[in-house]
Amino acid sequence: MIHEMPKLPYAQDALDPVISQKTIEFHYGKHLQTYVDNLNKFVKGSEYENSSAEEIVNKAPDGDIFNNAGQVLNHTMYFLQFTPKPDRKEPQGDLLNLINEGWVSFDNFKTEFTHAGITLFGSGWAWLSLKPDGQLVITKEHNGCNPLRYGWKPLLCFDVWEHAYYLDFQNRRADHLKGLWDIIDWNVVENRMLL
Ligand code: MN
Repeated sequence: MIHEMPKLPYAQDALDPVISQKTIEFHYGKHLQTYVDNLNKFVKGSEYENSSAEEIVNKAPDGDIFNNAGQVLNHTMYFLQFTPKPDRKEPQGDLLNLINEGWVSFDNFKTEFTHAGITLFGSGWAWLSLKPDGQLVITKEHNGCNPLRYGWKPLLCFDVWEHAYYLDFQNRRADHLKGLWDIIDWNVVENRMLL
């Protein structure tokens, strides 16, 4: 199969100032495009030629194919979870209930999740996932890893590679992450629980 770029559900300048048009042009247009191109190149002739990015992240050993499939999957989830005009700034229903069970309040959860992103050393991702036992968990994943690798259901991700924020926020990673809460489309995140 041919891996493809996700189509952005918003204009390239729509997420400014949290994610500027320039950052979209580089992060989506160059970095993600390169991961997609590399994945297509590396799977050619391999046993993963007909596997989806999800299947590769599930079972491929560490290496070029796994790294690029992880980054294609991670960035696809990342870019599709944003909207310039969210109809609400917090989750509802089952997701909100589970967050309250795990972290007492949504505000508390936001603090913990942001903290995971701020304290991740080096390049990687902060993730919220649903485990098979029905509990939510926040993890810090290095490089291109995705919680799917552990059999968990990935719901929400913050990219803390420097390419995600450096053009707009330079070294102020925390300020960028705090801004992301204003552009999350909770409908998208909630629907991932049903997949
Ligand atoms: Mn990235």
